Amino acid sequence: MIKMVDLHKQDGCIRNDIDKAIADAVDECAFIKGTEVGTFEAELAHYVNAKYCISCGNGTDAITLALMAVGLRPGDEVIVPAFSFVAAAEAVALLGGKPVFADIDPRTFNIDCESVERVVSKRTKAIIPVHLFGQPCNMTGLMKIASNTGIVLIEDNAQSLGAKCIFPDGSKQFAGTVGTIGCTSFFPSKILGCYGDGGAVFTDSRELAEKIKALASHGQSIKYRHEYIGLNSRLDTVQAAVLRVKLPHVDKWIFHRRRAAANYNDMLSDLEMIGLPHEDSVGIHVYHQYTLTVPEDDRDKLRRRLLENGIESMVYYSEALHTQPAYSGVCSYDKEMLNAVRLPASVLSLPIYGNISDIDQEVIVDTIRKFYKHN
Ligand SMILES: *Cc1c(COP(=O)(O)O)cnc(C)c1O
Repeated sequence: MIKMVDLHKQDGCIRNDIDKAIADAVDECAFIKGTEVGTFEAELAHYVNAKYCISCGNGTDAITLALMAVGLRPGDEVIVPAFSFVAAAEAVALLGGKPVFADIDPRTFNIDCESVERVVSKRTKAIIPVHLFGQPCNMTGLMKIASNTGIVLIEDNAQSLGAKCIFPDGSKQFAGTVGTIGCTSFFPSKILGCYGDGGAVFTDSRELAEKIKALASHGQSIKYRHEYIGLNSRLDTVQAAVLRVKLPHVDKWIFHRRRAAANYNDMLSDLEMIGLPHEDSVGIHVYHQYTLTVPEDDRDKLRRRLLENGIESMVYYSEALHTQPAYSGVCSYDKEMLNAVRLPASVLSLPIYGNISDIDQEVIVDTIRKFYKHN
């Protein structure tokens, strides 16, 4: 079976280091708040060039903590993309805020600035751009919308650790460090994944960093002195130890993912019915997912054909968020929404990870070409 993400293959060459790091953490016996946690936070902050990195229990908590830190109040509106993983909208709604769904750009699958402009209101507290599939959003455009309005930009960078935003003057900055707060996830299949759940928040503001740290620890900055109503959300020591081993390999894996995407592009480029991923000039794509668009009538048949040939594929995402049962009653959305409604029927993500072999890619492409009777 060719899997979407094969961690045996990706992490194989560092398996001994990981095993040793886990054993050392177990020996240390400080399963919560062990030394590895603080060290990893410092190393990750250094990697993305953020002043502060606060680890937490998972990527969804990271977004929740960010919204709590900026003081989201019941009734506040937060603009989120309608075509995405649910976490950002969920965090908003759980805190009593109102998710306001914007449409996406059909080429990048990222939040569309024009749609954001249509739904901005006096009640907009924040915008959560999601850097989807590994590709940064148009942060310049979003910063322009947010400027002088008091609207906070909170980046959902769960899928794009290591990606860079490119600004009009040519300068670059890591995705997740451009907005006021950035959030990421260490879910095992992410660009930097641990062996369980984990997440982190980035910010350059000391004040916000201290508040987020307290919020993640029952709202206390001093033991048993509760400044805020907080969460219990932490990265455990064993996960931090695993992540410390994996972090130095992230750039290599990203290089490999980008090369694999270029391979797919080369081998599929003459199939006219298939839409290849589009790389936008506003960022450097790290290919958390390699996502095609195929004709709606073919999509599920192609998926089945791939599976019959031992190849996994996935549909990210099969339905827009504003029509989902839990959200349709509590949200509002851009009434001109077009792409977020249409694309769920035609997207198809192929296996990609930081070590996928050329041979596996050839088998996958061969199966797709035979499906379309191109050899
Ligand atoms: C994975 C993911 C999250 C949530 O991360 P968890 O660690 O699973 O809570 C949030 N947003 C996006 C876009 C994701 O892909």
